[in-house]
Amino acid sequence: MTRTPLTTSLDRYEVWFLTGSQHLYGPETLAQVADQSQAIARQLGVSRDLPVRVVWKPVLTGSDEIRRAMLEANSDDSVIGVIAWMHTFSPAKMWIAGLDSLQKPLLHLHTQANVGLPWAEIDFDFMNLNQAAHGDREFGYIQSRLGTSRTTVVGHVSDPEVSGRVGTWARAAAGFAASRSLRLARFGDNMRFVAVTEGDKTEAEHVFGVQVNTWGVNELADAVSRASDVEIDALVAEYEDLYDVVPELRRGGERHQSLRDGAAIELGLRSFLEEGGFGAFTTNFEDLGALRQLPGLAVQRLMAEGYGFGAEGDWKTAMLVRVANVMGAGLPGGASLMEDYTYDLTPGRERILGAHMLEVSPSLTTSKPRLEIHPLGIGGKDDPVRLVFDADAGPAVVVALADLRDRFRLTANVVHVVPPAEPLAKLPVGRAVWIPEPDLRTSAWAWLQAGAAHHTVMTTAVGIEAWEDFARMADTELVIIDAKTRQREFEQRLRWSAAYWRLQRGI
Ligand code: MN
Repeated sequence: MTRTPLTTSLDRYEVWFLTGSQHLYGPETLAQVADQSQAIARQLGVSRDLPVRVVWKPVLTGSDEIRRAMLEANSDDSVIGVIAWMHTFSPAKMWIAGLDSLQKPLLHLHTQANVGLPWAEIDFDFMNLNQAAHGDREFGYIQSRLGTSRTTVVGHVSDPEVSGRVGTWARAAAGFAASRSLRLARFGDNMRFVAVTEGDKTEAEHVFGVQVNTWGVNELADAVSRASDVEIDALVAEYEDLYDVVPELRRGGERHQSLRDGAAIELGLRSFLEEGGFGAFTTNFEDLGALRQLPGLAVQRLMAEGYGFGAEGDWKTAMLVRVANVMGAGLPGGASLMEDYTYDLTPGRERILGAHMLEVSPSLTTSKPRLEIHPLGIGGKDDPVRLVFDADAGPAVVVALADLRDRFRLTANVVHVVPPAEPLAKLPVGRAVWIPEPDLRTSAWAWLQAGAAHHTVMTTAVGIEAWEDFARMADTELVIIDAKTRQREFEQRLRWSAAYWRLQRGI
């Protein structure tokens, strides 16, 4: 069978740079517009903030060529979004057909060629050439009138805030492209009786593009049983190289067979996922079939490579982990399934201790994880091998996705990962301690009021703006809890938001 290794790199992606103008000012001006917009696109493209290629397209001056450019962007899988700038005045009725056709994320870049003004030299030729200040307002009007979803960025491209914001949008667009093409394998169903991990998979495919389908766990167990001794030997050697492996698991150690079983699970999982072209998966400890252990180590490593994962059948969080991995590709930090577990409620130092039974991605740490084996009270299988570590301190975002019956709601909290107050000597899993914004009481209150899930993706590679862009692209509600969140306003916002999303869907 053909195997397709997962790609998380953004190298294959590009965004198109479209410039609007018109013929009113003559060919000389249009030539200048072309020169200047190429220079702007080039400057953006070479910025380290831009994770994808910026491809300049010839200046657009008419309705039909604008529509065709949009149709071409739609049909090219490497194009993840379109940047539009109205260098001179581009009468916006010319953009109606094009904007109506566009199915890719749009960024309206409100910029101009020059930073300062050459006051003494300004004549009306200059004014006609450099009039994005009103050309882009005309474009803003038509986008609002048509209800075009877009991210608007204002400023000169030499400003790091501008290139940074465009780069974040491009990362969100890559995440959106990944969700549009994501195939997600569920091994077994959701954990029995759990509500929030359920959801409408057909609607999810419509909204996010993700294809969510189920396979019997014994198909995975069959793939695991096909792992050869040679492959297992090589993988075990890799583990010993990468991690601090406890002596009992090492070659010659009394529990080495458990590590080999864990390696076989990784090999089987990987082959199943690659043969099916999957980018995300779920497991359920209640339904492990012939698997010897609950997959821990294997899941941790696959998440760190870029796969999405959700435990207990949680395909919605699995999708978010994949999206976060793509959005953060190449950046320091990582993304992982996370679960709010328990609190430190000591007044003045309130914080959250998060973990999972096993499945936390080592991409959250730059330290060398320990590879250990311990009993697991649930699942009724052999003791599972797992990586043990603390998530690095630093800024992070946790994001949850819930199905509210008439729509999906994303809830995000800006948080700060901190070191544990003391070593967690008896908690042998990957874990993170964080202080949520604005404070634990308000954050948890808001999270509960929003009906957000106990499973999240924790990402330390991208911030909240990437998720705002992603939600916009997926046309999905996003509720943000951050330093500015206050209870009274938040409650009102939830009500307005519910009204908006219900009205927006129409009847
Ligand atoms: Mn869980």
